[in-house]
Amino acid sequence: MASNLLRGGCACGSVRYEIRARAPRMFCCHCRACQRQSGGPMLMLLATKPGELAVVSGKIAAYHSVSIGTRHFCSICGSPIYLSRVGNPGAISVFAGTLDHPEAFKPAFHAFAGDKASWLQLEPGAKLFARQAVEPAGRQAKSHGGKRSISIERK
Ligand SMILES: [Zn+2]
Ligand SMILES: [Zn+2]
Repeated sequence: MASNLLRGGCACGSVRYEIRARAPRMFCCHCRACQRQSGGPMLMLLATKPGELAVVSGKIAAYHSVSIGTRHFCSICGSPIYLSRVGNPGAISVFAGTLDHPEAFKPAFHAFAGDKASWLQLEPGAKLFARQAVEPAGRQAKSHGGKRSISIERK
């Protein structure tokens, strides 16, 4: 089966990337770390692998954090492009809002639903996970809340 080619880029247009992946899945993470780094109620993340993503133009800068891993972003406009995690070198998550056609994906699941904004209505039949999700392959989708497991454990 041929790989799909997906394209995307940052807000200022300097960073452009291509993803060649067979059946990438998009998921939403509602954890507090994702809320902080997006400034919104959740993040849409496309689960992919390092070899599947090619940055074809622009300059990427990186921010390293213990709780979220490394966030790679446009060095000019700051748009987040992808996340990589020390504990999971075989996977990266592309910030799906930067795709040219984000509507091509519906969320496979929602992680850290316990942190979801109470006013936010999810799609009918949405699959919710209280914390991190288990992907179909049985692999743990390490959440960018990661080790800290955030507000669910507060009480
Ligand atoms: Zn930019
Ligand atoms: Zn998260």
